[in-house]
Amino acid sequence: MSKIQMTTPLVEMDGDEMTRILWKMIKDELILPFVDLKTEYYDLGLEHRNETNDQVTFDSAEATKKYGVAVKCATITPNAARMDEYDLKEMWKSPNGTIRAILDGTVFRAPITVKGIVPTVSKWKKPITIARHAYGDVYKGVEIKVPGAGKAELVFTGEDGQEIRETIHEFDGPGIIQGMHNVDASIESFARSCFTYALDTKQDLWFATKDTISKKYDHNFKDIFQDIYDKEYADKFEAAGIEYFYTLIDDAVARVMKSEGGFIWACKNYDGDVMSDMISSAFGSLAMMTSVLVSPQGYYEYEAAHGTVQRHYYKYLNGEETSTNSVATIFAWTGALRKRGELDGNTELMEFADQLEKATLDTIESGTMTKDLALITTLEEVNAVNSEDFIKAIAARLK
Ligand code: NAP
Ligand code: MG
Repeated sequence: MSKIQMTTPLVEMDGDEMTRILWKMIKDELILPFVDLKTEYYDLGLEHRNETNDQVTFDSAEATKKYGVAVKCATITPNAARMDEYDLKEMWKSPNGTIRAILDGTVFRAPITVKGIVPTVSKWKKPITIARHAYGDVYKGVEIKVPGAGKAELVFTGEDGQEIRETIHEFDGPGIIQGMHNVDASIESFARSCFTYALDTKQDLWFATKDTISKKYDHNFKDIFQDIYDKEYADKFEAAGIEYFYTLIDDAVARVMKSEGGFIWACKNYDGDVMSDMISSAFGSLAMMTSVLVSPQGYYEYEAAHGTVQRHYYKYLNGEETSTNSVATIFAWTGALRKRGELDGNTELMEFADQLEKATLDTIESGTMTKDLALITTLEEVNAVNSEDFIKAIAARLK
């Protein structure tokens, strides 16, 4: 059998712990036997990030701008415990945060649906994709614990000396204050990423804020989306037969619960944080969730939605058997290969991605799955397997 050829490399970002183990198995068993894989390899494993003073993370993001498509393994975001464990020179920042800042993207997360794993919400027939704005609001908030009576004001001082002043509250006693912000450039990028992704995936786009209460802050989000839609996307949406729908956040939540799914739900930062956990758990598991960072310039970085599964890794190091679900990491690879194929006009590569996804889902639907799914499936005959045997079962089906 001759292997599928690639013309342009993918940016490959290797990672940490259990997902690094799965990464190699996936490549060896599911990709290299079938594809003459071309990648530009960046080792984002914590040891190598530490050796390069995190330069490798910056380089991998720049390479994504050059080639357009990246696939990323889960990585450790260091904390105090990791400082000791890996003897780090510094508490390096989250690679995802660094990459997101360089690519200025929006993260889209969608459940991978499969027969035998039934959504908690019985009306949901198709996946719901969450698009979360990943900048500002309460995540860049500044807070004061008010000690007692006094006046709180909001003051903006322009570079030209112009001053804008609003009274927040005249306190009679102790209380709390929060100041938050966002910037138009980031909201515009968010909007363009959402519109582009909706066109790419041919799904309706919903967006919701609380503009009736927040007449300047949230209204600004609503206006920016509408303006960009009218000027740049309305014709394209019509041609693609999809819709842009704006509503209030509380109305959106009610409609989502009564919908059949199959659309993208664009959320402000906090809404996206909360709602993506609701959507993913209602659809089954974090290990059955795709995640892709899309930049407004059309760069794509595919990854799994979960972390490095540290607890399983320590079992693995102890020589114990693990049953770690590799579906999200496999789908990161298929997402990247399909997008590479699309950009290069390489149909064979796109078809391979489809077949690998099908082989993965068919394996689960036939009853062979990792423990996390075996615990929640409605299938009667279940063969719960270890990490490696699951990937081997997919490989056998794929062949
Ligand atoms: P995690 O890796 O997502 O795992 C949390 C728990 O969820 C696991 O212990 C496991 O539960 C279950 N789980 C997650 N993925 C699974 C899979 N593929 N198959 C089976 N079960 C799965 O989160 P964490 O343990 O809190 O974080 C570990 C490291 O990942 C941290 O250093 C963190 O910084 C990093 N992280 C990275 C990313 C990223 O790179 N995108 C995202 C989040 C976290 P059981 O133990 O009950 O089986
Ligand atoms: Mg959260």
